[in-house]
Amino acid sequence: MGGWGFTKTWVKASPVQERVFSLVIQKGSVFTEGKLQPLNVGITEDGLLHLSPLELQGTQVIDASQHVVSPGFVDILADGPKNLTNDYHVFERFKLTDGVTTTLQLHGGRENPEEYHRFFDPKPHYTNYGVGIYVMGIRLAADLPHRLKHVEKMLAEGALSVSHSLEYQPTPYEEVKAYAQLARRYERPMFLHLRYSDKEHELDGVKEAIRLARETGVRMHIDHLHSTGGTFHMAEALDLIHEARQLGLDITTCVYPYSYWATYLHSKRFDDGWQERYNLAYDDLRLVGTQERISKKSFQYYRQHPGYLVAVPEGAMPFDTTIDLALQTDFCMIGSDGGIASLEAANSHPRGAGCFATALQHAQAIGMPLEKMLPKLTSMPADLIRRAVQNRGEIKEGAIADLTIFNPKTVQGLATVENPNTDSAGIKAVILNGKVAYQEGKILAEYGLPIRNSGRRA
Ligand SMILES: [Zn+2]
Repeated sequence: MGGWGFTKTWVKASPVQERVFSLVIQKGSVFTEGKLQPLNVGITEDGLLHLSPLELQGTQVIDASQHVVSPGFVDILADGPKNLTNDYHVFERFKLTDGVTTTLQLHGGRENPEEYHRFFDPKPHYTNYGVGIYVMGIRLAADLPHRLKHVEKMLAEGALSVSHSLEYQPTPYEEVKAYAQLARRYERPMFLHLRYSDKEHELDGVKEAIRLARETGVRMHIDHLHSTGGTFHMAEALDLIHEARQLGLDITTCVYPYSYWATYLHSKRFDDGWQERYNLAYDDLRLVGTQERISKKSFQYYRQHPGYLVAVPEGAMPFDTTIDLALQTDFCMIGSDGGIASLEAANSHPRGAGCFATALQHAQAIGMPLEKMLPKLTSMPADLIRRAVQNRGEIKEGAIADLTIFNPKTVQGLATVENPNTDSAGIKAVILNGKVAYQEGKILAEYGLPIRNSGRRA
């Protein structure tokens, strides 16, 4: 064995037989050091992990026989509700039941992350949470020097990333480069929704992201490559990223395990020519959260009334030529790019409630070992914001106990386009900051903490 990671001094100071942990998870298959290992997990009063092949005593015990004990899932593309209302709570609730312990809004984020924390930190949270700087939101309100000044201030205050969406808000290259330079200076990642999603130009968007990484040295994360950049040329897009990484550039990407995308009808994606761009007709579009199909008439209505999300047909991004190719690489992880926005019949892509369970089910369906898939849900996304989550994202001695216990045989996302508000199956328990937050289908408590780059904790 390559060592369990606990120190000899600890064993000497406090023999395991005498110690009583506040929580013990026994007989599980524990994902640690890249392998599934038969270990018992003890959690201290402080919410920290101890691993042992020996039996441990706990005030509370969870039997994890036949289950995998994984680091809690980290969702880097947890695009949250935009309103400062209680809907953040619904959004986090459906992440928790999908096994997510940390929801990070790094695709969109907020114009002012500190203001976000001032408002949200006093409130109860189902998951840990954090935000990046939403460049789209600040560009229209200030001139370029003021935008850059603002971004720098937010980075200095602890924002997790700089995020921009070039397809939705086309921006001159030099301006994007200036944001990337700031991100680099503060050692934060840049999250980019690429400039093009159409067949002719999508690879130009990938090349632009690589150029930004090359010219600035920024840690570049490309959002949902199968829906933007690699829909039609995934193999080529992956080759470009692979070559850039070979040159030492830090570029990663993510996918969500669904073969269809969804976006708002008022967005640029549905500007004139969309039928040809995506080879779709009106009645291919489904209004999410309902049984409704779009007609020419309703299309025009929803275009003029922002806020309606539609889904394209299943298979629009075929698994075998897009998502599955990306998942085979060691630089592609999982990001949901979604969240459930209301408690009933949400107009939200089902990935907001089922992304992570679906990813685990899908991995097994295509013969990918869990050992290969689990880092894509845990340590890889955590590593993108490494300084803010130094003690999370992995199961190891002394790490913070964010854990997800699931049954690999029954884990499954159950949310659908018609009914996105559905909890995933097979998630037995979620441990958040050392305490049981969700168990056997019941939400027990809200233990989420803010995640900031300063490492400050509430
Ligand atoms: Zn996007």
